[in-house]
Amino acid sequence: MSASTAEVAIIGSGVMGASVAYHLALRGCRNVIVLEQQGAPGLGSTGKATGGFRCQFTTEVYVRMSLLAREKLRRFPEELGVDPGYRPVGYLFMAKTPAQLSALRAAVAVQRAAGLQEVREVGPDEIRRLSPAVRADDLIGGTFCPVDGYIVPLEIMRGYIEAARRLGVRFEYDAGRVECLVGGGGTAGKRIEGVRARNAAGPWAGVVAQSAGVRIPVEPLRRQTAVTQPFPRLPADTPMTINVDDGFHFRVRDRRACLLWPDDLPADDPFDTTFDRRWLPEVLRRAHDRVPCFRDAEIDLERCSCGLYEMSPDKHALVGPASGVDGFYLINGSSGHGVMHSPVLGLLLAEIILDGGARTLDIHALRPSRFAEGRLNPESEIL
Ligand SMILES: Cc1cc2nc3c(=O)[nH]c(=O)nc-3n(C[C@H](O)[C@H](O)[C@H](O)COP(=O)(O)OP(=O)(O)OC[C@H]3O[C@@H](n4cnc5c(N)ncnc54)[C@H](O)[C@@H]3O)c2cc1C
Repeated sequence: MSASTAEVAIIGSGVMGASVAYHLALRGCRNVIVLEQQGAPGLGSTGKATGGFRCQFTTEVYVRMSLLAREKLRRFPEELGVDPGYRPVGYLFMAKTPAQLSALRAAVAVQRAAGLQEVREVGPDEIRRLSPAVRADDLIGGTFCPVDGYIVPLEIMRGYIEAARRLGVRFEYDAGRVECLVGGGGTAGKRIEGVRARNAAGPWAGVVAQSAGVRIPVEPLRRQTAVTQPFPRLPADTPMTINVDDGFHFRVRDRRACLLWPDDLPADDPFDTTFDRRWLPEVLRRAHDRVPCFRDAEIDLERCSCGLYEMSPDKHALVGPASGVDGFYLINGSSGHGVMHSPVLGLLLAEIILDGGARTLDIHALRPSRFAEGRLNPESEIL
């Protein structure tokens, strides 16, 4: 089967492409091909993700999506034969000011109304108990959800790819930079024409859409991660621990600490993923301030990395048909939360394509046309 004889071509073999391929094949779509420009899957954002999973979002649609994703992750080993690494060690958000605490409380109200029961407010003493290395003397409280936690992005992707292959999906690597000639135009690389196409190109989604004559507001945003040498002082079940104040957060992975701080780090090329060492002193300053024992941790420069978030203007995904081009569907713009939602987004896009609409969950709030309509989702600053 080549791209031109396929019924459906999916552009991009990250976790989204893999999930939508599997869910399409599972629902009886038999002639699916995934085209990936790189020589292997997962070399885009999926391989750079921190591996966090949370239900603590600030919009109903995202909380509901996380709850559904949690169910799918729990059933993942049985359904797909792979352990997705879901470990519910919690997400701990920490506030320094009354305004930050109010924002967290408002989020809890949305979360509870959307069906998340386990989230709770915590005081400084409980913060110390939950994440014992944290300096909590300037904190006034926070929120904790024990069923948030960690996942293993590349294992989720592998589970979907292997299961999709068993159902007959073909994956073509080194496929060149795929363009869709749905709307004419296009320059270099492989062209797919007359085929129903799914844009799963992560941070490159805007570029792929443009080749189909569609403008979508998805832009890359550089995000760096500093990784320490093995640092056994922090237990493996330390929750994802987050300063609401400046977004600094950390987790423990493979006995090392991963330190993140969302600085925008402008670069000449917005797709450049070269790690910029000039960022290190500032993330370390924040790390040492919040977790004093990190002063004794050494950074492993070989493991530090830079990846790209796929940002949309309201930090919510675009899922469904692209306006103005028949047969061109989007699964883009998750804005740094795509791995955790990929089990649900792949399912819902398959429903939209094959059944004419999302059945399992109402995702009207994620329709791509909302930007043209001027009806964006409310933004949140909590992370
Ligand atoms: C530092 C960092 C931390 C993150 N942490 C988390 C987290 O804790 N939890 C979470 O859920 N998410 C996290 N994310 C976000 C998550 O990684 C993404 O939302 C998710 O991986 C998006 O998956 P994707 O398949 O859409 O994109 P990608 O994994 O980027 O895959 C897109 C693929 O499309 C290919 N492609 C692009 N253009 C073309 C073309 N023209 N032709 C052919 N192929 C093409 C690319 O090569 C790539 O392989 C993080 C991201 C970063 C950068």
